[in-house]
Amino acid sequence: MSNPQRRPFIAGNWKMNKTVGEALSLARELRGLVSMVRDRVEMAVAPPFTALHSVARALEGSNIALAAQSCHWEAFGAFTGEVSAPMLKEVGCSYVIIGHSERRQYFGETDETVNRRCQAVLKAGLVPIVCVGETLAEREAGRTLEVVSRQLKGGLAGFSPAELARFVVAYEPVWAIGTGRNATADQAQEVHAHIREQLVAAFGREAAEQVRIQYGGSVKPDNAGSLLSKPDVDGALVGGASLKASDFAAIVKAAG
Ligand code: PEP
Repeated sequence: MSNPQRRPFIAGNWKMNKTVGEALSLARELRGLVSMVRDRVEMAVAPPFTALHSVARALEGSNIALAAQSCHWEAFGAFTGEVSAPMLKEVGCSYVIIGHSERRQYFGETDETVNRRCQAVLKAGLVPIVCVGETLAEREAGRTLEVVSRQLKGGLAGFSPAELARFVVAYEPVWAIGTGRNATADQAQEVHAHIREQLVAAFGREAAEQVRIQYGGSVKPDNAGSLLSKPDVDGALVGGASLKASDFAAIVKAAG
């Protein structure tokens, strides 16, 4: 069982999917399906930027929070194509996913830019969901824990224990994202426990015990229960399965 001090947190990353109309239908369907979960499980969805405003209105008064998929580290200025943390706050976001492996792989995200974006997210009063995880080659070379440690050290450098306590960390092995091949519950727990120990060493136990560590990578209704039964798996970051309301709702129920 997950530590009762940490409320399970299930977030859906819709990536570059859903027009505004489609996003509204999904949000409304989901709202109906998870209303009975109340506050046993914390939930968030991360639609594309274009749908944030509409989805925020559709989820008003519900138990589902709004997340963005990235943000820039500056508050405003000449950064064509970017969106800032205060803008996301204004539109109704509570969370921002930072350093997703697709951002690292396709858009040059580094541990340093992850760190700068996290600073901006906290400054705007939002919560960062910081993604870390190894590639298949790194896992096969026995480098998983080393890679995750490096990403955490760089991404979280300079924050105080009080700031750290607000973070959510998502362990997302790259080889498990969108592949249908999830980490086993034991593989996930091994890395989650390592992440917790790294956080304890850098920030102290009190802060580290408050951080929710989500697992992400091919989470589905049929594997969620086993993954979420592990003591350091405090939730899930769900990609593909979050695009189907009934699947996402089933994962939420497995957490509650
Ligand atoms: C993700 O992109 O964060 C993710 C975990 O995707 P999927 O669930 O589709 O593997």
